[in-house]
Amino acid sequence: MLRLIYIIILIFFASGLCEEQFCSAESADLCKENEIDHQKLSYAKAINEGYQKYLTAIQDAEQDYKECNNTKHSCFKDVIVRDLSPFKKKGISEEMIVAAKNRGTFYQIIGGKLYREKDCMFPARCAGIEHFLLKVIGNLSNMDLIINTRDYPQSSEYFGNAMPIFSFSKTSQYYDIMYPAWAFWEGGPAISLYPRGLDRWDRHRKLLNKASSEIPWEKKDNKGFFRGSRTSSERDNLILLSRNKPHLVDAQYTKNQAWKSEEDTLHAPPASEVSLESHCTYKYLFNFRGVAASFRHKHLFLCRSLVFHVGDEWAEFYYYAMKPWIHYIPVSKNADQKELENLIEFARSNDDIVKKIAYRGRDFIWNNLQMSDVIHFWKQLLKSYSKLLTYKPVLKKNLIRIEKKK
Ligand code: UDP
Repeated sequence: MLRLIYIIILIFFASGLCEEQFCSAESADLCKENEIDHQKLSYAKAINEGYQKYLTAIQDAEQDYKECNNTKHSCFKDVIVRDLSPFKKKGISEEMIVAAKNRGTFYQIIGGKLYREKDCMFPARCAGIEHFLLKVIGNLSNMDLIINTRDYPQSSEYFGNAMPIFSFSKTSQYYDIMYPAWAFWEGGPAISLYPRGLDRWDRHRKLLNKASSEIPWEKKDNKGFFRGSRTSSERDNLILLSRNKPHLVDAQYTKNQAWKSEEDTLHAPPASEVSLESHCTYKYLFNFRGVAASFRHKHLFLCRSLVFHVGDEWAEFYYYAMKPWIHYIPVSKNADQKELENLIEFARSNDDIVKKIAYRGRDFIWNNLQMSDVIHFWKQLLKSYSKLLTYKPVLKKNLIRIEKKK
């Protein structure tokens, strides 16, 4: 802030110096120097005007912000109310469940026991979901559930009425009811580094906390960083900026299972994968949507690095409780290379301010997104959902009983 005031004062006193002076032949050198100073100051002025909009956004956000109080698990309850609101008036009938059945895996909770149709499209994902269902099932009423294990949501507002389908991620154009992703426990993306999928959230939290406490903010590399595959072209501009300005950002595409040629890594050889713990050595970490929301999002915060969150459409259940400019820097999904560069430069020149945002983001995830919060969310979600059923579910034939793994 002091630096900003200093530059504004300089600009004020220096403005128009050379134009108003009479430059004799003897004083030509002095005039030339003044002209160069003037150019520098105009440049500084332009930069600071550019940064001012970010500083104002931070100030405004801080003025309005009240940290949610999660002692009663209240941070995420609005999401449940909102996602269930399309079903509030008429409730959820058995016909609606039948109509949605082929869009997800059919589960029943009957008499405190869990049942599922025999086949599950992604067995590890079903296992990740069932871990939580079995944890909360105890006192819940009977209910039928359609749980979508694909990445993509299923009930678009452009295609008919709301269908009661549970999905892990969506945009506001979908009626799907959000549930905490399977990957909190099992079935997360398998890459060469994590051949059995991303580790369980409770364990990964601890690993990331350790990694980030070993590298203090001041020692982090003040560069932007991203490693991941090209699951969305919204990532391209950062990759291109990294190729043009490697001193500012290190962003490279890795292979995923769909990789066929260098075209899939934007005409460059695929980069080696980097563990999430190693991301913590960089000050600025970028998050993008993939096919839907990306699982990296929550991990990045635990690095105690500043998260640049690109795009605001795709979300998981906990995203809405996090606020732009408070917990992360929001970036337009259409940001070109220049805008990305400006944002990184802004962060570099306002270290104390962005460090505060980085730490607030970290504390939010660390304090409010514990495994117990995930379990609690599942429980509240199913309790509220079951109240909307307009019929009494009875156990269907040909289902298998799902029990706790030994
Ligand atoms: N990932 C990682 N290191 C890498 C590449 C990917 O840790 O070098 C993780 C990343 O955090 C994400 C998952 O692997 O959770 C899949 O990443 P990818 O970019 O392939 O797809 P996304 O799910 O983000 O669309």
